[in-house]
Amino acid sequence: MLLIWMALAQDQTPLLLAEGSRSDYRIVLPADALPSEKYAAEELRRHLNQMSGADLAVVTETEAPHPREIVLNAPTRLADRPKLGRDGYSIRTRGDRLLIAGDRPRGTLYAVYVLLEEHLGCRWFTREVTRIPRRDRVELAPIDLAHTPVFEYREVFYTEAFDGDWAARHRSNGNQPRLEPRHGGRITFQPFVHSFEHILPSAKHFKEHPEYFSEIDGRRRPYPTQLCLTNPDVLRIAIETVRRWIREKPDATLYSVSQNDCYYNCRCAACRALDEAEGGPIGSLLAFVNRVAEAIEKDHPDKLIETLAYQYTRKPPKTLRPRPNVRIRLCSIECCFGHPLAECPKNKSFKEDLIGWSKITDRLYVWDYVVSFAHYLAPFPNFDVLGPNVRFYAEHGVKGLFEQGQYQGGGCGELSELRAYVLAKLLWNPRADVRIAIEEFTDAVYGAAGPLLRDYLRLTHDAPPHFTIGAAPSLLRREALERAVGLFDEGEKRLKDDPDALKRWRKARLSIDYARLMRTSRRKAEYKERFEPFVAACREFGLTHISEGLELGRFEKSYPPRPEEY
Ligand SMILES: [Zn+2]
Ligand SMILES: [Zn+2]
Repeated sequence: MLLIWMALAQDQTPLLLAEGSRSDYRIVLPADALPSEKYAAEELRRHLNQMSGADLAVVTETEAPHPREIVLNAPTRLADRPKLGRDGYSIRTRGDRLLIAGDRPRGTLYAVYVLLEEHLGCRWFTREVTRIPRRDRVELAPIDLAHTPVFEYREVFYTEAFDGDWAARHRSNGNQPRLEPRHGGRITFQPFVHSFEHILPSAKHFKEHPEYFSEIDGRRRPYPTQLCLTNPDVLRIAIETVRRWIREKPDATLYSVSQNDCYYNCRCAACRALDEAEGGPIGSLLAFVNRVAEAIEKDHPDKLIETLAYQYTRKPPKTLRPRPNVRIRLCSIECCFGHPLAECPKNKSFKEDLIGWSKITDRLYVWDYVVSFAHYLAPFPNFDVLGPNVRFYAEHGVKGLFEQGQYQGGGCGELSELRAYVLAKLLWNPRADVRIAIEEFTDAVYGAAGPLLRDYLRLTHDAPPHFTIGAAPSLLRREALERAVGLFDEGEKRLKDDPDALKRWRKARLSIDYARLMRTSRRKAEYKERFEPFVAACREFGLTHISEGLELGRFEKSYPPRPEEY
């Protein structure tokens, strides 16, 4: 009995990874380590060094075993490697040894980040602001966990999230971040979306072959248009084009065969017949995409064909089913983001479509929206719905999630960095605690003004109305706006001796200055007084886009207004 008790007690003893700038541990790599596994060792070594001052040796498994090892995916040291799904990993302590295994190519690197973040207290809030706790003793309580992320594809589409190191640390694996081989690469699309114009550019082909394009009211139309999806030549050209894309970009994961960013689907007799049989224009689209996918899968069983269920194709088909190598990206563009998808009556039809799709494919992706595209800086009070929505997707079997925020030029949308941080947390773990993430972020990034930023969020999120991705600054009531101005003024006072945090605070304040400017009559003297400092601050912080269609330069030229505008 005593022996068992001693064994249990020993199993409960924390591992002492470093003490007083020294460590008995070494990091062990596989003999055939991938760049991402070597980088995992480098990142672990760097962070442990910053935490404790200790410098751990990195060796390969060809060296003789040592009693104190941190093993990174080295097969000779991992007696029983658990079965891991895409990007999955395990972290286990065995006596004094720490055993890490990961799905290749990214799982091991992700495991190191989970270890540093969730078990050793490190945080990477923004590209500049991190929290690496400095300790005399770095201890690790015994762990035994294996995990595969709920979403296989996780993309936070913000300029601030495109930094490769930041994205990898948050286990974001999407198309846009600058993820290199050392980060384990990424999931790439070729092209990214709206590819009908890439398959058959209407400017090039319409004159000779109007029959390739949509027929509406008896006439074929050039761009903006879609393809005639029952024309056999269009199908042949689409298959040839996808084959060419695979030759040109063999590393891509998904090849897009998706509608252009407009309506105008073909209503010729043949397309219409398919659409009527399937209950909507998804009929001709999915029949077409399935045939492309069928042609491709023979030669390229590992490649996927992506299409959109977007606007007029959002409603799922009655009888057709996506082939296994097809990924549907369902788009939430019409939704209300003031209230959870599952609850707001405005989102009833989207919810029905999501549930419908989830019943006919177990590989559904969602293209979601998290900012006002008409006013990137407008307060967009959706922080309270982010968690419920991501969980709603996860509960309905969604396997990929793309969160479109302010992605253009220099970024700098409303609280872009905080949004990117919270979203990355949720995409990795839909049960992540948003309140804690916000609290930690705001205290680290805004210093003494952190609590005021949380007051600002409470103020802007108080009983939000219905709103969509075109939300205007007038969403914030005038009295709330004035109180928000007061909070930001107070924050500037609190941060007068903290220049770095003050700079970040002034950047966060752009939103409220923009909202106030937009609510000031252009005929009043206050407009001019507010306009010039606002534009100067935008330039200082690198903002290039006021909205999806309006660059800062053009916005600047809009003032003073022309006489006819008075
Ligand atoms: Zn047609
Ligand atoms: Zn609503």
